[in-house]
Amino acid sequence: MFDFLVIGGGIAGISAAARLSSLGKCLVLEREPHLAYHSSGRSAALYEVNYGSPSTIALAKAGRKDFDCLLTGVLSPRGFMLLCLRGEETQYESDLVQMHLTEISLREAVGMVPILNQKDVRRAAVSKTAQDIDTDMMIQIFARLLRDNGSQIETNHEVKSIKKLSDGWQLDTDQGSFMTKMLINAAGAWGDKIAKMANIPEIGLTPMRRSVARLSPPSKLDVKGWPVLFGPGERWYAKPDAGGLIVSLAEETPSPPMDAWAHELDLAEALARYQDYVTEPVTRPVASWAGLRTFAPDRSLVLGPAQKDSSFIWAVGQGGYGFFTAPAASQFIADVAVGKEPSFDPKILSDLSPSRFPS
Ligand SMILES: Cc1cc2nc3c(=O)[nH]c(=O)nc-3n(C[C@H](O)[C@H](O)[C@H](O)COP(=O)(O)OP(=O)(O)OC[C@H]3O[C@@H](n4cnc5c(N)ncnc54)[C@H](O)[C@@H]3O)c2cc1C
Repeated sequence: MFDFLVIGGGIAGISAAARLSSLGKCLVLEREPHLAYHSSGRSAALYEVNYGSPSTIALAKAGRKDFDCLLTGVLSPRGFMLLCLRGEETQYESDLVQMHLTEISLREAVGMVPILNQKDVRRAAVSKTAQDIDTDMMIQIFARLLRDNGSQIETNHEVKSIKKLSDGWQLDTDQGSFMTKMLINAAGAWGDKIAKMANIPEIGLTPMRRSVARLSPPSKLDVKGWPVLFGPGERWYAKPDAGGLIVSLAEETPSPPMDAWAHELDLAEALARYQDYVTEPVTRPVASWAGLRTFAPDRSLVLGPAQKDSSFIWAVGQGGYGFFTAPAASQFIADVAVGKEPSFDPKILSDLSPSRFPS
């Protein structure tokens, strides 16, 4: 009998399991052959503390200190630049305020990103808070922590059925059955499917597809020090990555939970939008992929015990914020698992609570 069993070997599950492993015996079950196979292996790996709903920002701020000690080396400076074409001023000005950006001259912007199209780009604003996240390193640090604490991870283990027993839960996989006192649902896009198996009311999670194209560096320039570039209203973004640039339409296309792939039209539209802001002609992508960003109806994370059964704990709805919220979200899960109230103000606690949804 395990004290805690976590379904899902993405960042949500691995970080929660790492925290729980200091409180009892913990097991992670992951369906795929390796960790971070789905959303957690496909992110843009950006940390931006002023991005998302108030509860997301509160989690990002609360977890910041963990990046300095527990997760040393995971963050590195990136910077953020918002660009505005003629006709985009209203959205640009709203983003400027919401994201606490500082406006700079076009000359300064071109100094930072020499391929900006000076004919059409009208305004630019920056923030220094954005950082790159080494997502592989972050997963490995949490995985090592939980193994060092004597807990275990089983990949190639798909949970196929869940039964509530008098003293806990029984989970069945093709490789055998596992018993646990407490069950943590960190199954990402499959979160509602897990709830249904456990006879817990579903939240109404919506997985949203987002695709990404990787381009070689324009004119073989060194793009390493460039900020991430955004169009107003997050209509597209481009970020230095592995020596090249990743470009995304930042689309949110509802999808069933699945192994998502990039759709050609989304990639083409992303590259067309990016092209309007730069002088260098877009080249054929060297790679492309898509992942699912899964949201609750109100776009806040869902963290904590189910109303119907406090031994079923939700850790879902990470949307586009799963990595930079993970340090605080995982501590939140560890706190509620032992009946401790997480240290957030009451409004944030109610914004994150599963009980905000009808049971
Ligand atoms: C294109 C893109 C860009 C993004 N950019 C950023 C960013 O810049 N910064 C950021 O912080 N976040 C970003 N995100 C969001 C981030 O990637 C997600 O929020 C995060 O990865 C979600 O983690 P998760 O563990 O909840 O889900 P997942 O990584 O999907 O993990 C869930 C796991 O549960 C497993 N599972 C499901 N059902 C079962 C079952 N029955 N049995 C066993 N295992 C099961 C699945 O196989 C899966 O591995 C981005 C996402 C995408 C797609």
